[in-house]
Amino acid sequence: NENTAPIVVIGTGLAGYNLVKELRKLAPQQDILMITADDGRNYSKPMLSTGFGKNKTADELAMASAAAMAEQLNIVIRPNTRVTHIDAAAHKVFIGEEPVEYSKLVLAWGAEVIRPRVEGDAGDRIYSINDLEDYARFRAAADGKKRVLIMGAGLIGCEYANDMANGGFDIDVVAPCEQLLPSLLPTEAANAVQQGLEGMGVRFHLGPLVSRIVHDGDELSATLSNGETLKTDVVVSAIGLRPRLDLAIKAGLQVNHGIVVNRQLQTSEPDIYALGDCAEVEGRVLLYVLPLMASARALAKTLAGEATDVSYGVMPVTVKTPVVPVVVSPPAPGVSGMWQAECDGADVQAEFRNENGELLGYALTGARVMNKVALNKELPAILP
Ligand code: FAD
Repeated sequence: NENTAPIVVIGTGLAGYNLVKELRKLAPQQDILMITADDGRNYSKPMLSTGFGKNKTADELAMASAAAMAEQLNIVIRPNTRVTHIDAAAHKVFIGEEPVEYSKLVLAWGAEVIRPRVEGDAGDRIYSINDLEDYARFRAAADGKKRVLIMGAGLIGCEYANDMANGGFDIDVVAPCEQLLPSLLPTEAANAVQQGLEGMGVRFHLGPLVSRIVHDGDELSATLSNGETLKTDVVVSAIGLRPRLDLAIKAGLQVNHGIVVNRQLQTSEPDIYALGDCAEVEGRVLLYVLPLMASARALAKTLAGEATDVSYGVMPVTVKTPVVPVVVSPPAPGVSGMWQAECDGADVQAEFRNENGELLGYALTGARVMNKVALNKELPAILP
């Protein structure tokens, strides 16, 4: 017998909203309920790391309120509401004690920031920026301040370094790695980005961890694991994100690095699906917008009654460090091959090829980013 309860989507990030936009086109009458722990405003998360350069407040980055989205999509949205439990057998999610029935459930609850373990009394001055509300809090904290210490030199740390330097801040970056963007770029390309950022005044401290941060009058004093001490005003932690798994584990869903789903984005429970930053599709957790857009289109079809596999084509990642533009298509984890780079100042073209000469990845910086179009044609699809 048909379950008449709504399709329930948990999360109103890009994954949740894009899915519902696609589904609404295919199923105009379908009852849809979105539940979200944040205020439900629709915004483009990648813009968070461009906000200082463009001098945009959180309110200016928001494109629509939850109420406006509910009206536009003809759905019910419950903002500021956290799902606390899932009962898969009963087809119910719980908001505290309150049960909510679903016919199909979609987990689009994203990834959570990994919190750094730092000693000292200044934990209250270490900010992570992973949504609009975090961004608003950080802007308030940084208002009138001059110096920012960024922990982490991955995509998000480097983007914030460039953006906050554009915004007039004096930046130190501390990261326990030998080069920038270690999981994305070969050394030559990373060096080009580092030199570009250093040219803007950004100081890198690569190798040590931040071990302790204390209040020191009006300023903060950070001690690194190599004994060095840095003075700063406010700290941003960008040490990494991991898919939210807690509730999925408690609900008995199969998880690995992310919530394990098949090509139809179906979890180990047939009526529960997952997409976006929380999902692991065929072993891949891809914390980017293009995969979640492809997933949203495929899952909308599946939920509308036409079972559809997701496929990922070539999906290069743009790192938003405008001082030295970067486009990278990293090779799949574990594939064998070698990087070879041609360097000319800030312009680097690195290609990752296997022993048969087949292109499996690339990294381009500076003027070379324009070669992405040609290289994309040579690359294999991520999930054909
Ligand atoms: P989220 O946007 O995190 O949404 C999760 C939602 O779930 C939220 O609404 C949250 O409130 C809700 N939620 C969580 N738990 C619960 C619960 N228990 N109950 C109810 N609701 C809950 N990607 C790119 O491709 N290009 C870029 O240039 C780029 N730049 C980025 C820059 C920054 C600074 C950051 C942080 C990320 C960037 N990304 C970029 C990554 C990209 O933004 C993410 O992959 C994408 O936004 C993830 O969307 P999502 O909907 O899966 O998760």
